[in-house]
Amino acid sequence: MKACLLHAISPIERNPLELSEVPTPEPGANEVLVKVSTCAVCRTDLHVIEGELSRQILPIIPGHQVIGFIEHIGERVTRFKPGDRIGIPWLHQTCGVCEFCRDNKENLCENASFTGWLVNGGYAEYIVARAAFVYPIPETFSDTEAAPLLCAGIIGFRSLRLSGITGKSPGRRLGLYGFGAAAHVAIQVALHWGIEVYAFTRDERHRGLALDLGASWAGGSDDQPAHKMDSIIIFAPAGELLISALKVLQKGGTIALGGIHMSQIPPIDYQLLYHERVVRSVANNTRQDGLDFLRVAGEIPIKTQTQLFALVEANTALNALKHDAVRGAAVLKIGE
Ligand SMILES: [Zn+2]
Ligand SMILES: [Zn+2]
Repeated sequence: MKACLLHAISPIERNPLELSEVPTPEPGANEVLVKVSTCAVCRTDLHVIEGELSRQILPIIPGHQVIGFIEHIGERVTRFKPGDRIGIPWLHQTCGVCEFCRDNKENLCENASFTGWLVNGGYAEYIVARAAFVYPIPETFSDTEAAPLLCAGIIGFRSLRLSGITGKSPGRRLGLYGFGAAAHVAIQVALHWGIEVYAFTRDERHRGLALDLGASWAGGSDDQPAHKMDSIIIFAPAGELLISALKVLQKGGTIALGGIHMSQIPPIDYQLLYHERVVRSVANNTRQDGLDFLRVAGEIPIKTQTQLFALVEANTALNALKHDAVRGAAVLKIGE
């Protein structure tokens, strides 16, 4: 099969992914072999390629927002049959026995494995995945529309939850810093729940997209709107944004940091944090987050704005993402 392989850590500007011919993988007893239709591109793919994560396995096929059709099932798989359309997310597998898994926090599992980082991902014609960790996809969505829901969407959804935004908090004010793929899904869920959304982003096109989608306000990251925010999510990986965000956060409010990697956070004046303001990170997601999100996404239904690239253009798509040149989410169109 054809796949984009990363052989060595490198800045994306050097176009390190090589389109190569590699053996098609075989599914184990609890796995499914999937013919990939689309794979959305995520900022975490950049962190994998540029070596910003703690561990690295090489060579590796990146990509963890995969939509495809089951080609073969392992002998113990009963949940799916060949031909089913499924989505493969970042969370490849958890151990099921560590204290976090036993406490409904499998997103923090001590022995988790992740698609496109520690096991091969979806920048390829075929991929194997654990049957217990993939999702059926609502029929509302095309393969292209569905792909960005699988990481950007699910992480955006968990970030909403951890920032204190739920379906039972209408009228609250939510600030979003960075307006890429995750934010453009999160805003739709928040608006569906009656939340007022403010978009803080330096990029003029992203401000336009936020307003098109229904944001009440869009401005730069250091601008101060007329109201304080009850909840804030920072999706952009820039540590200094935390200072800007704390300045517009209401007393008792929460800031969720939605990225897997962030540049260093500058010293924080305690007065900015005082009055019970909370800052917390968001790490991965549970399978339940994914199931809950996809159900809500299908009900709304979420509209994903996508920009298509061919598999051979993976480097181009990642360069565009790094330089904020993608409106919505970049998606690789791989199979039929
Ligand atoms: Zn575990
Ligand atoms: Zn991702």
